[in-house]
Amino acid sequence: MNSLLNRISGAGDTDPESFSVERARQLVLALVEPIEGSERLSVRNALGRVLAEDILATANVPGHDNSAMDGYAVRFSDLSIEVDSALTPVGTAFAGRPFAGRLEAGQCVRIMTGGVIPDGADTVVIQEMVRDSGGRIVIPPKQRRGQHVRRAGEDLRIGMPAIRAGKIIRPADLGLIASLGVAEVNVRRRLRVAFFSTGDELRSVGTPLKEGEVYDSNRYTLYGMLDRLGCEAIDLGVVRDRPAEVEAAFRRAAAEADAILTSGGVSVGEADFVRGMMAKLGEVAFWQIAMRPGRPMAFGRIGSACLFGLPGNPVAVMVTFHAFVRDALLKMMGVSPVAPLPQFRVPCATPLKKRPGRSEFRRGILFREDGIWKVRATGSQGSGVLRSMSEANCIIVVEHERGHVEAGELVSVQPFEGLV
Ligand code: AMP
Ligand code: MG
Repeated sequence: MNSLLNRISGAGDTDPESFSVERARQLVLALVEPIEGSERLSVRNALGRVLAEDILATANVPGHDNSAMDGYAVRFSDLSIEVDSALTPVGTAFAGRPFAGRLEAGQCVRIMTGGVIPDGADTVVIQEMVRDSGGRIVIPPKQRRGQHVRRAGEDLRIGMPAIRAGKIIRPADLGLIASLGVAEVNVRRRLRVAFFSTGDELRSVGTPLKEGEVYDSNRYTLYGMLDRLGCEAIDLGVVRDRPAEVEAAFRRAAAEADAILTSGGVSVGEADFVRGMMAKLGEVAFWQIAMRPGRPMAFGRIGSACLFGLPGNPVAVMVTFHAFVRDALLKMMGVSPVAPLPQFRVPCATPLKKRPGRSEFRRGILFREDGIWKVRATGSQGSGVLRSMSEANCIIVVEHERGHVEAGELVSVQPFEGLV
């Protein structure tokens, strides 16, 4: 990142005074690198962590051809394609208790779901199709060869990667890893992210407010988002707008963490020492991003830590986190590939006022009406109104070029569930 500012100014078509959201997102993503270091965990403890190794199938899963249904294992060549066939039952194959013998011509074996297909058999006829006639099993015509048989290696073939390094381990992955008999996996160490809030007006919860003061809520939303993402969140508290305090906080954060998140102090307000201190201690670019909320943002490096200087407004903090920080942190965590948050197009039930030339992130509520998912904006959309974020279950992304949205037009939404 040491030529960060050059690369940004060398970016040609972009004016650093007014980046588009997408341009800034890509730049941030290109300039961060995955951290080194992994640890070995038991499978369950690896939930939500980033896999640091390919998990190879050491055996076929399933290990044997087995039945997908309850019924009878037969030799397809014994069956007539025009009339009923009668076979002699010679035993039973339970799941976990195979039939020991071999199926000879004219024989069948009662088989349960998951039971190993006996030697000689190649087809399963489901129970509901057959009838018992004096101790013989009568099978109607028109069966298909190989029907209802789950093949060995159908789920995983020996030697193939079952899960690739770089994947966040989800419940299905825990199961897949367990299905291979693997008890421990290598995962990336947790990304350490230090964060603090800046501003003389901020107080931490538990202390009384004086006139003009507000409680610091950003450290709570940031903690929540970092924790959900699987990072180790290091809370460095509230830092007063005083150079010595701000400097000490940055030095400590850079020493302890892989990434630093700050909120507040990146606009050009008089009492903001934060901008100056970032520029003094590291290599930092200050951007005016064409977005609402969340216009000012700083990005760069202090020591070996990445720095994201987010705006102070409570909604802007969350929106800029989703728009830029999330994907960059995922990349640093070792996630590969980093996929952008999914967006879906749904009709917007409320009109939205908007001017072209900036991206807007409205707080929305996805709801179902007459069987169709739609979105409406939450009430107050001020960038300081955190309630709008709490009531919302999605972000409505109104794209850079777009103007007013009339009721009923399609808009893009990012649902919160599964967001991080
Ligand atoms: P700033 O970006 O520092 O100019 O702050 C913009 C607005 O956000 C001001 O109204 C601040 O009081 C408010 N603000 C800044 N940081 C926080 C915080 N940590 N918690 C709640 N409000 C904040
Ligand atoms: Mg401030």
